[in-house]
Amino acid sequence: MRKEIHGEELMNKLVALCKRRGFIYQSSEIYGGQANAWDYGPFGTELKKNIKDYWWKKVVQERDNVVGLDSAIIMHPKTWEASGHLANFNDALIDCKVCQARYRADHLIEAASGEDMEGKSETEMTGLIKEQGINCPNCGKREWTDARAFNLMFKTYQGVVEDSSNEVYLRPETAQGIFVNFKNVLDTCRVNLPFGIAQIGKAFRNEITPGNFIFRTREFEQMELEFFVKPGTDEEWFAYWREFTMNWFVELGVSPERLKFNDHSPEKLSHYSKATTDLVYHFPFGWEELWGVANRTDFDLSSHMESSGKKLTYFERELEQHIIPYVIEPSLGADRALLAFLVDAYAEDEVDGKTRVFLDLHPQLAPVKVAVLPLTKKEELQELARGIYDQLKTDYNVEFDLSGSIGKRYRRQDEIGTPYCVTVDFDSIEDQQVTVRDRNSLEQDRIPIKEVKSYLWERIKA
Ligand code: ATP
Repeated sequence: MRKEIHGEELMNKLVALCKRRGFIYQSSEIYGGQANAWDYGPFGTELKKNIKDYWWKKVVQERDNVVGLDSAIIMHPKTWEASGHLANFNDALIDCKVCQARYRADHLIEAASGEDMEGKSETEMTGLIKEQGINCPNCGKREWTDARAFNLMFKTYQGVVEDSSNEVYLRPETAQGIFVNFKNVLDTCRVNLPFGIAQIGKAFRNEITPGNFIFRTREFEQMELEFFVKPGTDEEWFAYWREFTMNWFVELGVSPERLKFNDHSPEKLSHYSKATTDLVYHFPFGWEELWGVANRTDFDLSSHMESSGKKLTYFERELEQHIIPYVIEPSLGADRALLAFLVDAYAEDEVDGKTRVFLDLHPQLAPVKVAVLPLTKKEELQELARGIYDQLKTDYNVEFDLSGSIGKRYRRQDEIGTPYCVTVDFDSIEDQQVTVRDRNSLEQDRIPIKEVKSYLWERIKA
């Protein structure tokens, strides 16, 4: 029986496990740590890579009409003028005059009254905070500055001279790299509408209130698809990709009851969007956005066309005319996805009267697929086990571990989510058989060594 663990307790246990087992470390820890920045350790790196690979497989590799891209982080500054980020990519910042704590005004109001703040001006929010008598969550006082717009883009300088003509920005989303390459892809690849361009890469936002572990950070990774379609078919494709997001998580074992859609009401839509949905997940700190799906219409291509003077149109043969495609954008944070998978996978049960911690990760995602464990350090056992390990490691990430008691080694593999352990014991030398232990059920199968590779392949690749 799995234990019920929720909220803060679950989050604390997860953060501790991430540190203990080499998934996620505090960034720059030896210098006291850089707040709200995290480094992925060996197992976290594998997990994140598997998440990104699976996304790529389902979004790019298995489709005829989606191609990949890897564009630069520092783009021409005009990009951000055209995209609207310079003017509109703001959050409303408000300070407590007494304790100097800093908040997002929209978050304060939403937490106090549940009122949706999307589209509200800073002046309106200042008024609402006063009207609703909202106290500072830190010191309890009610002395606020006015809310003011704070642009979330990281600004820096390119080259040796630090003046305004050399100002550049770290991209706050990967999407714009796709839009500015639209014509390049059109001219060099055989793509016809509908088609998509996908990209995985870092994005940077100077968030006012980062936090909740890796949920909201200032540097993060996005997996974005811009799917170009004929205007008029956009609503259909929007529905298709909306559905896709939920299925992607469910296929990877995430509990459907912890996922739901949050469809934005028309007043809540961003300046570029005709329709937006968030796939939200029930994190230990509440229902929060995981994957945003937006119908961005022809906003981005039109703006870049106007700003650059270049033609970013598509020749539609049936109509015999140039059109500006509409675009549907599913945008998923790799780090947020990873946190959702970890939250969903964290489990405790009782084995032989003791608590056992394990990560019930889908085999596709598990950082280590198989651990090969000789029962003792005896040379013959080690040799036999090494042979199995060498065979398996060409298929996927496998560990060979002979340190400590077998019980301890199982516990370690359980905690990093390894779905199968292959144990080589004294009988193995005689009967050429090994025991394969299943992480979740703890059932053990005795199978011939020559069948191990196919036995595991069937289960892990399934
Ligand atoms: P939020 O409302 O949580 O700030 P957003 O609506 O600004 O998110 P989008 O601009 O739609 O987010 O970005 C697409 C995806 O990128 C999000 O669904 C999320 O998974 C991820 N993401 C956005 N901001 C962050 C961040 N600061 N840290 C980690 N992931 C992020």
